[in-house]
Amino acid sequence: MSKSTVTNVNKVSLKSRQIRKKRKTVIHVPGLSKSECLCEPPADTNVNQNDEEDAHITVPEWRLHKVQSPIVLKHDETNQYDHFEPLEFHGHWDEGGDATLSNNGFTATLRFQNREPPVLLGGPLHDDQYVFEQLHFHWGGDDHSGCEHIFEGQAYSMEAHAVHFNKKYASFKAAADKHDGLAVVAFFLKATDDDEHPCFNKMTEAVKKIVKVDSTTSVPSDCLTWIKEEAQCKGYYTYQGSLTTEPYTESVTWILYTTPIHVSRQQVSEFRNMKSTACEQHNIVKNVRPIQTPPVHKKLDIIYARSHRKSSE
Ligand SMILES: [Zn+2]
Repeated sequence: MSKSTVTNVNKVSLKSRQIRKKRKTVIHVPGLSKSECLCEPPADTNVNQNDEEDAHITVPEWRLHKVQSPIVLKHDETNQYDHFEPLEFHGHWDEGGDATLSNNGFTATLRFQNREPPVLLGGPLHDDQYVFEQLHFHWGGDDHSGCEHIFEGQAYSMEAHAVHFNKKYASFKAAADKHDGLAVVAFFLKATDDDEHPCFNKMTEAVKKIVKVDSTTSVPSDCLTWIKEEAQCKGYYTYQGSLTTEPYTESVTWILYTTPIHVSRQQVSEFRNMKSTACEQHNIVKNVRPIQTPPVHKKLDIIYARSHRKSSE
């Protein structure tokens, strides 16, 4: 991302804050009764929920209602909410700098170097900017069991997690245990007989080079174009949950795009060739955490938000 883009992001954020300060809007989140609304109603409020400029959810305590992840999602059991600000991806699929893919014995992890990291903002993230840390994958022993979240009873072949940390904490490490520390964007991948995804080949070609544990290879810097269409065009589900790996900290705003990205069976199978041990006797066959069922007294608060694009980028 260029310096001017960073400046624009800051300007947008600043403008949004100024607008909100000037024209405070009370919006009740579906699923909460009126008495539970956490907004302070100003005396002269003129509520107009159709005005996108004003539309902003002001419920910071929402983030304290956490559950362990992954979970089962059903559209009929979600709160439908159209008044988030647009969720914005900045720099995720841009060229520039370097990218590497590594085998840590558990998954394949993509990181960017020598460039401004991509930034995620808007949507359920309120005023905060979230900086891209890494993207990794989950998969299973067959093409029907490699995802972590389950949507409408359907399991997919893989799940990709783009992990971001809240910029106000300065680093992933510092943010990882904060209640608003992390934002993870999840994408499902579905293995099909003949839908080889040309953009995803940048990842699978690199996976072939990191079969050995603790190995790293370079990847083209624009290697995330396969998430672009999904991230720009569709609605998403969001809830407050946890990391799905140790230490399972409840610090994650999950953002899930549930329309699967089609790839080929061969593209998925390349990941299963990765070794999990230095002796090379064992492959990473399955790296999925089982579904977590919240305690009975804890209500699952999942929001479905339609995507709103600010730019035609
Ligand atoms: Zn993950």
